[in-house]
Amino acid sequence: MLTKLEKELNKVLPRQNVLTDIEERYAYSFDASENQSADSKIADAVVFTETIEEVQKVVKIANKLNIPIICRGAGTNTVGSCIPVAGGIILNFSKMNKILELNTQNMTIKVQPGVTVGEIQNIAEKNNLFYPPDPSNLKVSTIGGSIAQNSAGARCFKYGSTKNYVLDLKIVTADGNVISTGSNTVKNTVGYDLNSIFTGSEGTLGIVVEATLKLIPKPQETQVLMAYFDDINNTIKCVNQIISQKIYPSTIDFMDKNALTTVEQFYPTGLMTDKDSALLIEIDGDYESVLKSKYNICQILTLNNAVNIQYSKNAQDAENIWRARRSSMSACAKLKPNVTTDDIIVPRDNLAQLVKGVQQICKKYNLSSCLVGHVGDGSIHPQIPVDFSDKAEYTNYKQAKIEMYELAIALGGTISGEHGIGLEKKPYISKAVESGALNYMRQIKKIFDPNNILNPYKIF
Ligand SMILES: Cc1cc2nc3c(=O)[nH]c(=O)nc-3n(C[C@H](O)[C@H](O)[C@H](O)COP(=O)(O)OP(=O)(O)OC[C@H]3O[C@@H](n4cnc5c(N)ncnc54)[C@H](O)[C@@H]3O)c2cc1C
Repeated sequence: MLTKLEKELNKVLPRQNVLTDIEERYAYSFDASENQSADSKIADAVVFTETIEEVQKVVKIANKLNIPIICRGAGTNTVGSCIPVAGGIILNFSKMNKILELNTQNMTIKVQPGVTVGEIQNIAEKNNLFYPPDPSNLKVSTIGGSIAQNSAGARCFKYGSTKNYVLDLKIVTADGNVISTGSNTVKNTVGYDLNSIFTGSEGTLGIVVEATLKLIPKPQETQVLMAYFDDINNTIKCVNQIISQKIYPSTIDFMDKNALTTVEQFYPTGLMTDKDSALLIEIDGDYESVLKSKYNICQILTLNNAVNIQYSKNAQDAENIWRARRSSMSACAKLKPNVTTDDIIVPRDNLAQLVKGVQQICKKYNLSSCLVGHVGDGSIHPQIPVDFSDKAEYTNYKQAKIEMYELAIALGGTISGEHGIGLEKKPYISKAVESGALNYMRQIKKIFDPNNILNPYKIF
């Protein structure tokens, strides 16, 4: 027998766009977070919308029946942001995946929320333009999800994160109306900055149904270096020296020995697995400035005893180096039944203490982490293979995680640089945000979503 919800949804959406079988709903109880238990976390329905009007109608139904709406892009967030903890409707954006307009004169692109970040980058580059934010899984992660998580990536060092490229959002609000949060202009100081409030709000304040993003000119030249070291102290010293000499690569990324060996084991690209650690540095700009930066960076690498420096000679070489770095999480996932990742961040001058501290914590709890990270930002991603069914190992992992957060905060940093809070980090948010600020955040949630139907019980 059809439930009340199914009847309501069938009135506003084509039948094939409403999923209610238990197997179908169960499949949407997970995302890329460590949350593996779907008990009592099954949505009441999964819907695919194709127009803004359909989204509005679904929101109105959710209001009428007082049930949650959880937006879903590719489900790759790592903090449990998509998990339907209180049931409700999963709003899947895979059918709202069109690029609506590319304006090469204004250097803007207007897209639907289900377009992937990779597609935006590709179309921009074909037109000699550039969309820099690059979460490592950019080929699948959607722009709706990336706006909701304020995703960043390796190039954040030079170019900033998603929020720096959002010019205007069309939002379906919790009461089913549509608002526009910005303008098509590259500057806008009219009133409060609503773009910033919605970007990073994890689907808890409104539903992104259209986004206008800023593009920039494509750099004339891009080169990638991979430098290996025998001593991690030298690796980190290089990061600080490159930054203190005001050299401005687009990326300074890091892989430790475990990451190098694990990636090479499962996705061989010729990484030097006998070395202690490596830096992956991307330099972009006009040809002359790239050559100059490359020369200066190589001086610093050599002075700090880099034992091998490899250069990309063409786009394919650069892609191979990047593929190795981007494969670290999937390689790690092959070591144990589960894999977890994190994104703690500190002011750059405390990076060495963070890296060494995280390594010590993992050792103390007998966890073999693959440490990678956007170290130019002061951010590291400890990727930890764990067997959740091994109680002792799981308890150790949980304790290690708490200590990593405490370490990051003690070093003047915070618990998330780019993945967000979701469910996973919710218990720790009060350690990272002072109570007065947290209180304002809660009030903002109440203003935008008084009935608490938009992705409830996340963040706070
Ligand atoms: C292997 C791997 C590597 C990663 N590397 C990085 C990295 O380098 N940098 C980084 O920042 N992140 C990284 N991530 C995290 C993740 O990719 C990003 O958070 C991603 O951008 C989320 O996109 P998604 O489409 O999967 O969103 P989902 O996971 O589907 O959703 C994320 C959140 O957005 C909300 N949402 C989705 N669509 C909408 C919408 N239209 N309106 C409102 N809310 C919406 C959801 O409700 C949820 O709260 C990585 C993840 C993996 C698995």
